[in-house]
Amino acid sequence: MIGKKQLIDRFTQYVKIDTQSDPDSRDTPSTKKQWDLANKLAEELREIGMQEVEIDENAYIMATLPANIAHNVPVIGFISHFDTSPDFSGENVNPQIIEDYDGKDIILNREQNIILSPNYFEDLHQYKGQTLITTDGTTLLGADDKAGITEIVSAMEYLINNPHIPHGEIRVGFTPDEEIGRGAHKFNVDKFGAQWAYTMDGSQVGELEFENFNAAGATITIKGKSVHPGYAKGKMVNSMYIAQDFITSLPRLETPEHTENRQGFFHLTDIKGNVERTTLKYIIRDHDKDHFEARKEVLQKLALEINSQFEDEIINIEIKNQYFNMREKVEPLMHIVDIAEEAMKQVDVEPIIKPIRGGTDGSQLSYMGLPCPNIFAGGHNFHGRYEYIPVESMQKAVAVIVKIAELTAEKYKDLDYGENNKR
Ligand SMILES: [Zn+2]
Repeated sequence: MIGKKQLIDRFTQYVKIDTQSDPDSRDTPSTKKQWDLANKLAEELREIGMQEVEIDENAYIMATLPANIAHNVPVIGFISHFDTSPDFSGENVNPQIIEDYDGKDIILNREQNIILSPNYFEDLHQYKGQTLITTDGTTLLGADDKAGITEIVSAMEYLINNPHIPHGEIRVGFTPDEEIGRGAHKFNVDKFGAQWAYTMDGSQVGELEFENFNAAGATITIKGKSVHPGYAKGKMVNSMYIAQDFITSLPRLETPEHTENRQGFFHLTDIKGNVERTTLKYIIRDHDKDHFEARKEVLQKLALEINSQFEDEIINIEIKNQYFNMREKVEPLMHIVDIAEEAMKQVDVEPIIKPIRGGTDGSQLSYMGLPCPNIFAGGHNFHGRYEYIPVESMQKAVAVIVKIAELTAEKYKDLDYGENNKR
């Protein structure tokens, strides 16, 4: 097992470097400051002995750990992102280390009375006696996903220092801008050259995910007719009332606040309106492909129906797909999930396999030709001041990465794997 101190040192160094991404920027990386950590990571990968360390013009980092065995096995990859969420400040992160957590309230910030309490964040109970890293209450922590980076770098270092552990070629990929949905956009899957990969970007210890939402966004624009209200009878069309009809025609219980597990939804995210013009924004989510398509159709039909009541077309609807459920791409290769599951069991981590109610970089990568389930990185309460991570969960994540490498090498030992592993 890898030492706690080593993980704490590495992780706290990373989180102190501000790498917040910015959805309003069109650049990659979206913020210049992401280079600060990116350059450091490339340097560090070289220092620990990784080969072919490259950082491209968009700050994507790739590196190779060469195989240490004679037989051919598939090249596998591990991926995480170094940006942090724009939802909360990542400037001057001041990590707090709580050793031998006593299971009680943690005072993050005495002055501002900010408390991380197991009464509210019940997951804390399971970490009694462990070492926690928290914020000082004024920033996020950035365990999402600097924990994933820490774990991958540490696992590679561990494999380099323990050459008796057999493994095939391993590729490492670190990306900017995942939090603004663009982590996978400029990821060169061909250059990466792995048969499959794992994002280390899940939450609590044990999480293993290969299903996520199918996702689309819809913009509905409604045109009204503004007339002097004193003389508007039979003439005015108030776009806000039509918008209201549109909204109430959709099932009220198929919304985020009334759904869970594999239930999909319509989510009204934004309304802007006046008499002349109202714009509604929705996101549509469903794990099931057919249900997902049906939801989009419901919106289209509703728009048609309302339009049919008027002479002109007053509703315009634009629907854009955002990402798809990776299950479709991963299921034909279920052994890649099985290996991860088996690795967890062998290092005493109980696998928690459940559908993600969101997307991951892995879902995009899976559709770009790199099947990519998601594994826990260990943190909780992402994107805010209550974010924390148990160091023991990071230790487990490192152990899982090492074991996946080992099991992959073992699994292909007696198979004639042949040419497929050539990049
Ligand atoms: Zn993340």
